[in-house]
Order: sequence, then structure tokens, then C-alpha cells
Amino acid sequence: QWGEEFARGLGRAVGSVAEGRGDAADRALDLPLGAPGEPAALPADWLRALRPVAMGPLLDTLSITTVGLHTPQHMRRRAEALNLSGFKVADDPEGRPGQSLALAEDSVLGTVVLAGEAARASGLLVANAVRPFAHTGFAGAVFQLGCGLMDRDTKLRLHRGVRPSVDTPLCAGCGSCLGACIFDAIKIRGGRAAIDHELCVGCGSCMTACHLAGISPRREGGVAAFQRGVAEAAEAAAGHFGGIGSGKLIFVNFLLPIGRGDQGGFTRARFRPANMGALVGTDPVALDQAAWDLLVADAPQGLRQWSGFPTDPENLLDAAAARGLGEREYHLEKIAG
Ligand code: SF4
Ligand code: SF4
Repeated sequence: QWGEEFARGLGRAVGSVAEGRGDAADRALDLPLGAPGEPAALPADWLRALRPVAMGPLLDTLSITTVGLHTPQHMRRRAEALNLSGFKVADDPEGRPGQSLALAEDSVLGTVVLAGEAARASGLLVANAVRPFAHTGFAGAVFQLGCGLMDRDTKLRLHRGVRPSVDTPLCAGCGSCLGACIFDAIKIRGGRAAIDHELCVGCGSCMTACHLAGISPRREGGVAAFQRGVAEAAEAAAGHFGGIGSGKLIFVNFLLPIGRGDQGGFTRARFRPANMGALVGTDPVALDQAAWDLLVADAPQGLRQWSGFPTDPENLLDAAAARGLGEREYHLEKIAG
């Protein structure tokens, strides 16, 4: 449960990981802000309580990134609605890129651009609510580093191959996916959902919203290419901050009680995991592996029972580990009850 005790514990955890890893000047806390009803949206009281945890000796900037390719204006309205004055929007509202990053020679992405506020910080505390995500099983620390922190154009290019299609025998025409698509790319025709691929950007929100698994990624191999792209971009982002283990990057994975109906329109997750709290560390691969293990601890059918998606994070974590972003082996130390 969230409360002052949890906030103090989180502060201690971040402090112990950050100890001896440079000063706080220009180090920012980056939080993805989902729209109301999205699983990525941390509850408002968590966000407010994070402010005193984050600001001070450890960090000096609070910034937010967009989620699901939402426009920065949309996220700014969300921040205003939550009364989070002092937060900066990492994705520049005018669409100005932050900083182009150097990619490894074997990369296929071409270019990636770090979002504005993220590029300006000398170090980042990358916080993230672990949530089901169609293209990677779940979105955790690796995903936030390789996609969440990028500017909108990079996110659009990453998602190009995963624009979905409707599986008409499964679709019941209920319309839940229409509300999830802020790009107005879905209409109901003949009692079934139909996607306009001129408008669709491949964000995956409709797949999360459909509890009948009626929408899935369209192109063969698109998911594998997406995961490879995220790993490439994560490697480039880590390099911008001196690499994993430089002390400039610290990750927090929040494990929230996401479940059917808990977050308004979000319906995909099948059950509530019992292990709640936050994982803190400098290795995003280990952190995601630990989150995965905790999530499936009470799920006899594995992660897919939690997410409802056929994709699991294994390929992404292996690709990230192969690019030097961390290890899937980890040691878990409990420092707050
Ligand atoms: S949410 Fe699923 S079942 Fe409902 S209209 Fe959309 S694709 Fe069809
Ligand atoms: S149709 Fe689905 S994947 Fe495409 S933009 Fe809308 S919500 Fe995102």
C-alpha cells in the first residue's frame, strides 16, 4: 500500500542505489504519465508523494514523458489536471527534438532522438509502472529507456511495423477499443471494429483495451523488429549517460495492483499480482527480470495470464542483455517492508 512509510522506503532504496554515484546536479526523475484510465498512469497521490522523495539531494528536476505516442499537449493537460506544477514535459510540446544519439554499427534504426528534458539532464532516475504491453509482454525499465524516453518521431518509427489488425471472428463489436484510440483510427463497421491504417500509429492501446484479444499486430515479424529497435535505442540512450553502471541512470519499476476495471478503461490484465511495491536498481534488464518473476509468482499460467498477450519479454531482455544493458540474473534485497 502506498503511504508515508512506503515513500520513505522508496527514498532509502533510491538513496542506497545512488550512494557514491555522483551528485544530484541536473539529475532528473522521469515518469511516464498515462491518460486517465491507462495502466501506465501512476495514481495521483503516488505522484504527489514522489515529489519530496525525488527532489532534494538525489535529484533536481521532475520530468514526464508521453505514453503510447500521445501528444505532448495531451500529457501537459494530464499534468495540469493532476496539479503537478514543476513537472517538465520531456517530449517537447513544439516537437523540437532533444538530441540525436549515436547508434551501434549493426543497428537497423538509422537514427534515434532522445526527448528534450531527458537529453538535457546529466543523469536520470527512470521510473516506470510495469504494465501489460502487446509488443513486449510488459513495459518495464528496458522499454522506458529504449522507447519512452525517445521523441515522438522516434516512437512513431519504432512502432511502424506493429500496426494492428482486427481478428474479425473474435471481435464482438463492443466498441471498447474506440475509446482507447486517441488517434480516432477505429470505427465500427458491420458490427466489427475496423482500423484506418492511415491514421493508426501502432501504439497498441486498442490491443490492451480489447478483453477478447480481437486485435493483434498486423505484420509478420513486426514484433521482433520492434523489440530489436527498442534494444538498439536503449543501448544508444544508455551510452548518452555514460553507459549502464555509470551511476547516471537509476531505474524504478513500480508493481501496481493493475487489474480488470481498476484503471477505468483498462481491462486486459487477468489477475492481481500479490507482490506489490517498487524495485530499484541500475541494471534495467535485471530489474525487468525481477519484475517478471514477481508478477508470475502467483500465476500458474505464467506472465501471459497476467498480461493477456501472447508475447513475453524474453526476446527483448535477451536483446538488451546482448547489447550490454544488463544481466537477467539478479540478487533481490528487501530494504523496506
Ligand atoms: S474492443 Fe475488441 S471486441 Fe470490442 S470492438 Fe474492439 S476489437 Fe472488437
Ligand atoms: S488503432 Fe490501436 S494501435 Fe492504432 S493508433 Fe489506435 S489505439 Fe493505437
